[in-house]
Amino acid sequence: MAQQDTERQSVDEFFDDTVDAEAREAAHRERGTSRPITVVGNPVLHKECQDVTEFGDDLARLIDDMFASQRTAEGVGLAANQIGVDLKVFVYDCPDDEGVRHVGAVCNPVLDELPAAERVLDDSNEGCLSVPTAYAPLARPDYAIVRGQDPQGNPIAVQGTGYFARCLQHETDHLYGYLYIDRLSKRDRKDALRQMAEGTPRYPVVENV
Ligand SMILES: [Zn+2]
Repeated sequence: MAQQDTERQSVDEFFDDTVDAEAREAAHRERGTSRPITVVGNPVLHKECQDVTEFGDDLARLIDDMFASQRTAEGVGLAANQIGVDLKVFVYDCPDDEGVRHVGAVCNPVLDELPAAERVLDDSNEGCLSVPTAYAPLARPDYAIVRGQDPQGNPIAVQGTGYFARCLQHETDHLYGYLYIDRLSKRDRKDALRQMAEGTPRYPVVENV
């Protein structure tokens, strides 16, 4: 992993999503109710979600349900439209490449454009709860910064490396209507859909009508 910290912003500017990660994740999920996961083909996954404008109890409950659903499905990230809610918010519980656990929620996320010179592509495997049982290699930058708002509406910025960087990009994509398979070649996309057709999800899903 390339370290270019001298070029990057100081860590102080970023939300420290590693503090009390285990306790925060448990508190959310214990308050929440697990919901079934929408899968590729469901219209809510294929359009841009609405901006979050109300940062109250309803949003807090949604986030709790998202953490509960993420845990049931054994995911490392979950976007609201993956439980059928048309709102720009995602949650994550994801290790980085050093094994450090990151837990948080981001509303209205926007990824920073990284200068091409700083971009190092990582072509690890990627999967998605909404494309159950399928995996495919996908090249993505190994570093990401996402800016948005926390569940109270305060501005936050989250940075990630390695697998966690992939997660931040993947979840932000969801909220703009894109699945990772939309970034694959035709052939790899077809193969992912075949893997999905042949597999059986290990968690409840919303059947497409
Ligand atoms: Zn996904």
